[in-house]
Amino acid sequence: MPEGHTLHRLARLHTEYFAGGPVRVSSPQGRFADHVSVDGRYFDRATAVGKHLFHHYEGGLAVHVHLGLYGFFDTHLVPEGQDPPAPVGQVRMRVGTTAGDGPAHVVDLRGPTRCEVIAEAGVADVRDRLGPDPLDPAADPDRAWARISRSARTIGALLMDQKVLAGVGNVYRAEVLFRHGISPFLPGVELRAGEFRALWDDLVTLMEVGVETGAIHTIRPEHDHGDVPRRGADRPRNYVYQRDGWACRVCGDEIALQTMDARTLFWCPTCQAGRPR
Ligand SMILES: [Zn+2]
Repeated sequence: MPEGHTLHRLARLHTEYFAGGPVRVSSPQGRFADHVSVDGRYFDRATAVGKHLFHHYEGGLAVHVHLGLYGFFDTHLVPEGQDPPAPVGQVRMRVGTTAGDGPAHVVDLRGPTRCEVIAEAGVADVRDRLGPDPLDPAADPDRAWARISRSARTIGALLMDQKVLAGVGNVYRAEVLFRHGISPFLPGVELRAGEFRALWDDLVTLMEVGVETGAIHTIRPEHDHGDVPRRGADRPRNYVYQRDGWACRVCGDEIALQTMDARTLFWCPTCQAGRPR
């Protein structure tokens, strides 16, 4: 599943491609019939919060996209004077600049769990339901701390709960807990305020790297030996995510995995042993 950095990166790119002019919006697959209400409108900007992406249009309308587990955007750069490529497969929404001077961008959205036109006021409703987003400079981490510090749920589960923190997914969850030597099984109520603050600050740093590069990179230079990740060169370069059965980059013990709340959790039982009771 895409994590928050992917959505913020898309928001930045889509603003670059489309802001300040009218765009053509279509649904080649036909399942996004509401596209007609934004087709031809001026594209104001794109924004993201957590794992949600918004295309803001003139006249107080927005398209709300959630990629879910399988959704993604394809981007085409169409040379001047040429037609965009014909849509291939199940394209829920295509957005493109109108014919004009210079090359045009076209983006194709496939497989989202959500793609809908909403009133601008609805964007605030989505935001209000989410916890603070480490990629939002105005985010208030104390909102997350207020929930975590009172919760008997594990910190591993809390970090994945979008109502607690927005945008953190399985990779950042696993990696940030490892980087701070915190057991994923520690109840929120036992986490210390200073530990939470360090986790938050580190998430801000790591996720900003994700927005800049489009990739998750969490290894400190002293632990990076340039080896290819277990499941291929396109996988995140990291400490524990999908490294089960491999040697911990820090202590050499075996990285463990188990299911927590229907998602796979990865951690080092030695580096993240937890506090003695
Ligand atoms: Zn270890």
